[in-house]
Amino acid sequence: MLLRPIYDITPFTALDYPDHLATIFWFAKCNMRCVYCYNKDIVFGEGKISEEEALAFLDSRVGLLEGVVLSGGEATLYGDLVEFCKKIKQKEFKIKLDTNGLNPEMIRVLVENRLVDYIALDYKAPKEKYYEITKDKHFDSFSKTLNFLIQKQFPFEVRTTVHSDLLRVEEINRIIKDLLKRGYSGTYYLQPFVFTENTIGKVKEEKNPFDVSQLSHELKVVWRA
Ligand code: SF4
Repeated sequence: MLLRPIYDITPFTALDYPDHLATIFWFAKCNMRCVYCYNKDIVFGEGKISEEEALAFLDSRVGLLEGVVLSGGEATLYGDLVEFCKKIKQKEFKIKLDTNGLNPEMIRVLVENRLVDYIALDYKAPKEKYYEITKDKHFDSFSKTLNFLIQKQFPFEVRTTVHSDLLRVEEINRIIKDLLKRGYSGTYYLQPFVFTENTIGKVKEEKNPFDVSQLSHELKVVWRA
């Protein structure tokens, strides 16, 4: 067990957990290296906050907040996440998990034991571009998580960060086709890349426009600025 798995805590958010006032626990470390990622401190840094400190923070927010967002980094890298979620649940907070989906087994345990209430799953790129964007080769693990959540009819959303030189509208349409084929009928969220100098892959500012009018209408697509 990591003594300090959490890099930072955002005490309050009204935006990151749909319809709930929440806090965000940012877990240190990630198993991807997305080229557009600007959270280098979290991805490469060490955690600074222990479980006990995070739970004590929650005690101070009982009656004020409804939920906890487990984000990162990648929270499912924390080997004791299941036990940690049990402790959060004992305090009657709802839990949202932000994940890249690379740990389908842990997600299965969390879902089947009702230890999470909502999941935001990143669909980083179509299979053939997955490595180029994430530097990870385990699309099949992500795919397993996606199929599991659909099959369970679990409340979750799928989202993609769009850097318009890295992912073209045709590729987003391929993701939409794939989601439909698998039986996903929820909203598909697109998040525009916001330029910053210091990304993992040192990506440049976007040169190509992203033509929203060419997006498929087969699924409800929402831009989340
Ligand atoms: S953007 Fe990619 S590298 Fe950065 S935290 Fe998320 S999954 Fe990890």
